[in-house]
Amino acid sequence: MRPSTQARLRQPWARIQNPFGVWVPRKSRFKFGARNQKHKKMQVLKFGGTSVASAESITRVLAIVADVQAAGPLVVVVSALGGTTDALLELGHAAAAGDAAHYRTLLRQLETRHLAAAEALLPTAAAQAEVQPWLTADFAELARLAEGLAAVGELSARTLDRLLSYGELWSSRLLTAAARARGLGAVWADARQLIRTDSAFGRARVDEAATTRLLTDFQTKNPQTLWVLPGFIAADAHGQTTTLGRGGSDYSAAIVAAALGAERLEIWTDVSGMLTADPRLVRAARPIPHISYEEAMELSHFGAKVLYAPTVQPVRQRGIPLWIKNTFEPAAPGTLVEVAPPVGASGPGGVVRGLSSISPLALLTLEGSGMVGVPGFAARLFAALARAALNVVLITQSSSEHSICVGLSEADVPAAQRAAAEEFALEIAAGRLDAPSAETGLAIVALVGDTMRAHPGISGRLFGALGTNGVNIRAIAQGASERNISTVIRADDVRKAINVLHEAFFEATYKQVNVFLLGPGNVGRKLLAQLREQQPHLREQLGLQLRVMGIANSRHCLLSDGGPDGDGLDLGRWETELAAAPACSLDEFTGRILAQNLRNSIFVDVTASPAAAGQYEALLARSVAVVACNKVAASSELSHYRRLKNLAQEFNTRFLFETNVGAALPVIGTLADLTRSGDRVRRMQAVLSGTLNFVFNNYDGTRPFAEVVRQAQAEGYTEPDPRLDLNGSDVARKILILAREAGQPLEMSEVANTSFLPPSCLEGDVAAFYAQLTHHEPHFRALYDAAVAEGKRLKFVAEYADGHAAVGLQNIAPGHDLYELRGKDNVVLFYTDRYPEQPLVVKGAGAGAEVTASGVFADIIRAARL
Ligand code: ADP
Ligand code: ASP
Ligand code: MG
Repeated sequence: MRPSTQARLRQPWARIQNPFGVWVPRKSRFKFGARNQKHKKMQVLKFGGTSVASAESITRVLAIVADVQAAGPLVVVVSALGGTTDALLELGHAAAAGDAAHYRTLLRQLETRHLAAAEALLPTAAAQAEVQPWLTADFAELARLAEGLAAVGELSARTLDRLLSYGELWSSRLLTAAARARGLGAVWADARQLIRTDSAFGRARVDEAATTRLLTDFQTKNPQTLWVLPGFIAADAHGQTTTLGRGGSDYSAAIVAAALGAERLEIWTDVSGMLTADPRLVRAARPIPHISYEEAMELSHFGAKVLYAPTVQPVRQRGIPLWIKNTFEPAAPGTLVEVAPPVGASGPGGVVRGLSSISPLALLTLEGSGMVGVPGFAARLFAALARAALNVVLITQSSSEHSICVGLSEADVPAAQRAAAEEFALEIAAGRLDAPSAETGLAIVALVGDTMRAHPGISGRLFGALGTNGVNIRAIAQGASERNISTVIRADDVRKAINVLHEAFFEATYKQVNVFLLGPGNVGRKLLAQLREQQPHLREQLGLQLRVMGIANSRHCLLSDGGPDGDGLDLGRWETELAAAPACSLDEFTGRILAQNLRNSIFVDVTASPAAAGQYEALLARSVAVVACNKVAASSELSHYRRLKNLAQEFNTRFLFETNVGAALPVIGTLADLTRSGDRVRRMQAVLSGTLNFVFNNYDGTRPFAEVVRQAQAEGYTEPDPRLDLNGSDVARKILILAREAGQPLEMSEVANTSFLPPSCLEGDVAAFYAQLTHHEPHFRALYDAAVAEGKRLKFVAEYADGHAAVGLQNIAPGHDLYELRGKDNVVLFYTDRYPEQPLVVKGAGAGAEVTASGVFADIIRAARL
């Protein structure tokens, strides 16, 4: 084999700065060419539509061709200028539909585009004068063809092939002329005279023997070193133009390479090789350096557009190495398709070589007791589908043989149902089979790798990764070769599934996490600042790419438009952007989160709103994790609390609310660790209100009670409504949550709350509340004095013991674990089987925006690392 293309093509453009100048070979090229001339082996290079979409791209192609030509004889196979085939197709349909204005516009556009390319590529008037007459003649002919179509009002497959053939005819002749103008001695060869097919217009099958004969004859008669051949098109035995199927130029090149026993085949396109996944779906997709013919075939069969699937077979049979290279980055190594690629050359462990997907797909199911143990059912079904010329993409049959399921293109469903119903008419009439049913809106995602069979656990990883992201698998098929594991999923889950799998199999060190935050108030704003600051650390230390994809308050919602693979919202500018974002309701916000369907999504509720808590069910049921600072859900009816926890379990996600009790203190986490490890909580005693603690620590009769409460509110310790703290109901919610987390099925109404507030304090609004506090100053003073008289301190205590919970004000004696509490500290004492006398104590700052935000942050990380 000659040295790699990479070596040959170092800075190829340096030599074509004047595109119209005659190319002068470099010294090294003579040397290189001379060495290769000994072998005289043919190279076949195919350039796709994107590589010849403009005069500038064609100039790049010529540079590559010039370089390779120096190494020996060469065939260049070329596609139509990018987009031309689609335009011709549209033109044909418009003409057949009688839409003269439309087809004429298309015709004009095509002509202008090709004439402009000719003008840009051909340096002299003489060279242009060679090209213009046939281009003009072709367009006149095409115009007549279109008029004919409009007259008869229909477009047969045969005429369509003729119509489409113009694209490749123009591009190949243009390229030939441009190569000649640069002194490259190119010869144009008409593929219709060299590639013989049957008459299956639209996707004709190649007659290999006849084609090999034609090509070798041509080679003998034309020993020139450079031929240019239109891809995609061929002709049947009657000389009628046929095509090889969309994307078929790759196949033309493979046929030529096989027939001539080429040394190698190079497919030049707009990406640097066959990638681990479709780059339009996965930003992190990367080139696969080596791949086997079989793997390449599987990937292309299952949707990797970069290579037309039939291309592999001809070169594989002859053992011809196949390269996939990038016209726009010729120095990149590209992909080598070969017999025995090195194991472990790509991906962690190299087990999965690549991923691909096909959509839209449908599943046709044939079901009924009449199938069990009766041989020949499957054969009859496939024969019926084959007779109707329907392509089966995937097959699954349950081991009970009760049903058989085939995957096919959605467009084929009606025909497939008809074919199956006809074939099994008797069985259906007799009730032994149900009428064939079809499910649409599906897709296949395939995992491909030759060595997967030797590695257990691949499907486990596949199911795990999809499961934690709520991607439901409708069917699964694994070929006996175990080279391909195909899963059928919903078409709108494809992007998410492919990205999740790409992370699981190719990006062991990095996981993308998508955060949606509701309520950027005091805590939310601090949280966003912390996330922003920690993003680099999360990526480097934890392998998490944490992106904030949405922020909403009660009026607006801001969603990242950076696409599923962007970097998310700019956390330096969210405030101004949110203020300018469109108005949107809470339902719309969650609706958008679900519609985006991003992997590893986390909904973070930093509100105190019941409406926000009302969204959790829908989110968890779609595997979106919920991190709630909001206590409403965890303290709602027991049945609802349980439903949310069960949903999280069922849909493999997390419902976390550590900050519901003691802000960032590890209270719920500690409780979970205790109970998970088999300990039993007998009793809990706690001071859980930062607000009440602050108030009773600061109230000594010198300032009015109302003023101290106001200060607590001003410093941000209280709930948005301070009465929730003062009347004990916030503490009651917390002990309720702790009791539930300890395994006690308790309702809020069962928590005894002896309020220390005179009832009139709770009768009006917040202003009235403060007025009442002032009015009742003597009451608070009396409570304080009584405690001091006993040498004790006032503490608002929550208690749980033997299934009962209560909250109320107590006088705590010195030496008690609850006595020494400063500022906004919280403390929880756990008395358990393992800590019967001396409790396990969790103590520290239990309120404040900064610590609460850090607690929410910790829950986000927990949810992300599930
Ligand atoms: P050409 O015009 O050169 O024939 P195609 O558009 O047919 O090019 O194929 C190249 C495109 O295939 C790429 O631009 C890429 O978007 C798409 N593609 C899909 N899957 C893959 C994959 N696994 N690897 C590389 N490209 C892929
Ligand atoms: N021009 C044809 C198509 O667009 C063939 C090809 O590009 O390979 O399908
Ligand atoms: Mg292609």
